[in-house]
Amino acid sequence: MKTIDDYNFKNKQALIRVDFNVPIDQDGNVTDATRIEAAKPTIIKVLEDGGSVVLMSHLGRPKDNESKYSLQQIVSKVSEVIGVETKFVNNCVGEVAENAAKNLQPGEVLLLENLRFHKEEEEGDPDFAKKLSKLGDVYINDAFGTAHRAHASTTVVAQYFEEKCFGYLLKKEIESLNKVLKSAEKPVTAILGGAKVSSKITVIENILDKVDHLIIGGGMAFTFIKARGGKVGSSLVEDDKQELALEILKMAEKKGVEIHLPVDSVIADSFSELADTDITPTDNIPDGWMGLDAGPKTIEQFSNIVSKSKTILWNGPIGVFEMDAFANGTIKLGEAIGEATKNGAFSLVGGGDSVSAVKKFNLDDQMSYVSTGGGAMLEMLEGKTLPGIQAISEV
Ligand code: AMP
Repeated sequence: MKTIDDYNFKNKQALIRVDFNVPIDQDGNVTDATRIEAAKPTIIKVLEDGGSVVLMSHLGRPKDNESKYSLQQIVSKVSEVIGVETKFVNNCVGEVAENAAKNLQPGEVLLLENLRFHKEEEEGDPDFAKKLSKLGDVYINDAFGTAHRAHASTTVVAQYFEEKCFGYLLKKEIESLNKVLKSAEKPVTAILGGAKVSSKITVIENILDKVDHLIIGGGMAFTFIKARGGKVGSSLVEDDKQELALEILKMAEKKGVEIHLPVDSVIADSFSELADTDITPTDNIPDGWMGLDAGPKTIEQFSNIVSKSKTILWNGPIGVFEMDAFANGTIKLGEAIGEATKNGAFSLVGGGDSVSAVKKFNLDDQMSYVSTGGGAMLEMLEGKTLPGIQAISEV
């Protein structure tokens, strides 16, 4: 795997695919610059070597070239975060972009307009990718969030470069996932939560070969509990996945993986912060009530497993953490993972909602690594090779 440290960028121009798909408020201000900060080390490395930087990214899902999706809005934030006055050009290909890129001096940074203002970006159009490739000498991919897409700037463009590598962010993402999937220290525990079994089936099937313990929590646990004959009231259940749930349990047994399901739940009489609540065994929830968080015994059992693990993967909250009344399980589990990490375990958190949860409860600093790419991480956990990663690995 070629990474940025294999190169010296003196007098070279790096074309860097970054993920600057940042939230912007109505006045055009960036409300969370995490993604810009995440790309900073790669940009600084090129500049400190004596090179110049051309940055390309998408922003949102524009249909036409609406100004609310223009990357011009983030230029001052990029300048502030990187500490270098950033130039901007109002197209990402064509003469104007090529001239701006040609005039760039070592130490300078240029941001291109939103790649998705051209439909050819998402189509992975080779001609469009070739035009992009004219803007730099070396291609760097540092956008994990789009690495599972075979778009022009994330994948196709790589073929037009002799010199191409991963940036620091993408390198760290790949290394962290490999630490779980390929070279994990045992015992390995995966915690899968969230709403639906259906969105995580392929992940479960793939990781059964790699883990010692699989904790299943959140809404998806009820399909398993019901399939085993439990009474789950009006909890979230995917009836058409019950058979599959039983197959997964059987498969796990065959592979020697211990599956842990919640034993008690915080139940509510409606899906609301103001609902009446109670605690019952997860397989004996009264009609009209639904399980919305892990109960105290479950939290203790899950935390116990986590505390004995050396590698921990966490994807998906184990309760409706968005409502304070049902956030306790997710917080306590996060704290247990934090504690295990302090004691030497490697912990990786990924997937949109678990990342929001650890951030919301200020647990992110306690994890070994918090992934930046929801969909990309899920696809890696499913065992797929991501096109954006493959395009660079084939050097
Ligand atoms: P996912 O995108 O599949 O990871 O699902 C995340 C969502 O699952 C979050 O918005 C949680 O509120 C929700 N969730 C977690 N536990 C439950 C539950 N017991 N019942 C319903 N939704 C849940």
